[in-house]
Amino acid sequence: MKTLSGIFTILGKNLPDYEERPQQITMAEEVFRCLTKEKNLLIEAGTGVGKSFAYLIPAIISGEKTIVSTSSLALQDQLVKKDLAFLSRVLPQKFSYDLLKGKNNYLCRKRLSDYEGTGKTYERFIKWMSKTKKGEKGELPFIPRFWSEVCCDSQDCNGKLCPFYEECFYYRHYRKLHKADILVVNHHLLIYDLLSDFNVLPFHKQLIIDEASDVDDVIATVLGSTISHSRTSWMLYRLRSLKIIVDHLFPAADLFFRKKAVIPSRPVFPVPPPERERLKKFREELALKKTVSTLKKNKKDAVDEEMKDRIETTIR
Ligand code: SF4
Repeated sequence: MKTLSGIFTILGKNLPDYEERPQQITMAEEVFRCLTKEKNLLIEAGTGVGKSFAYLIPAIISGEKTIVSTSSLALQDQLVKKDLAFLSRVLPQKFSYDLLKGKNNYLCRKRLSDYEGTGKTYERFIKWMSKTKKGEKGELPFIPRFWSEVCCDSQDCNGKLCPFYEECFYYRHYRKLHKADILVVNHHLLIYDLLSDFNVLPFHKQLIIDEASDVDDVIATVLGSTISHSRTSWMLYRLRSLKIIVDHLFPAADLFFRKKAVIPSRPVFPVPPPERERLKKFREELALKKTVSTLKKNKKDAVDEEMKDRIETTIR
């Protein structure tokens, strides 16, 4: 196996504009020491250090399964399409890598089958869907307005019980991931994995978190409650499909979200009292308590299992 500085020399020979940076090599040595001695390490490195190579190369040469978690899709794409693709071409050590995006980046066959779409965009979308192999949002040449209603959603997924499970885009991709030596994920998946006793991500021995300053926001989002226009509309459509009369509630939801200047764009704790009041009023307007008790009653009376299941998912 080559030494770290030997490996960085390989980069120099294959990247025309590569400049040797002592901070990059120091960081790589520290990361490698931490990985091989099974220690924890926190590094703050400014721009221009070349951080991604400084952690990817030690992870690759350590030969252990590694998860790299980042917060932005842009960095995930850069790591997979540029950095790891390049390193797999030039490094003597062979390794495999993959990317798992958040669930909402994949098309959900089940939700699409429930969605009643019409019009030209919908037809174009169906044409794309009949050809796509991955069902990924990033492959779409256009993002339809209804994407949030047909993409995978953890709250609306029965996993193995779903009739589309075997051909599900997300799970088909997910089943291959255990083969990857380096797996790039986002912070949401990482936090869900921690909360689920490591049931979300495939086994890995090492963890590298980039863009770590965003982790606390993600924790607040995952552990907090979220309200959004798309989520509320999804719930209303869902209730309508369960024969609950909700048509009169759509304007109330639209009005609430149109005045969104008061809705914070990032998680806040504690929720300020005026917002709490506003949310309470909105909840009353949607008559959620009454709806949940009607659903519970309907669930008791439902004869078919699928209907029971759908009601349960909506209540949750
Ligand atoms: S398994 Fe979940 S994500 Fe996949 S198609 Fe079914 S509901 Fe959608």
